[in-house]
Amino acid sequence: MSDPRCPECGSDIVCGWEIPGVYDGILFWVCMACDTAYPRDFEDWKTRQAQSNNYANDYNDGKLRRE
Ligand SMILES: [Zn+2]
Repeated sequence: MSDPRCPECGSDIVCGWEIPGVYDGILFWVCMACDTAYPRDFEDWKTRQAQSNNYANDYNDGKLRRE
């Protein structure tokens, strides 16, 4: 896996998010510099990629917040 980099601002200071009960591992990334979420690259794992995209969108829509 290549280094995650924020597509918005280019920062490499990003935090991996796990969603317990959804995926045991990093599902998507959140940039610590600009607070933008973006999906992890799951390549050919299409169902997982769709989840990653959806959760990143939810974060950006304000439906997921860090506690
Ligand atoms: Zn950023």
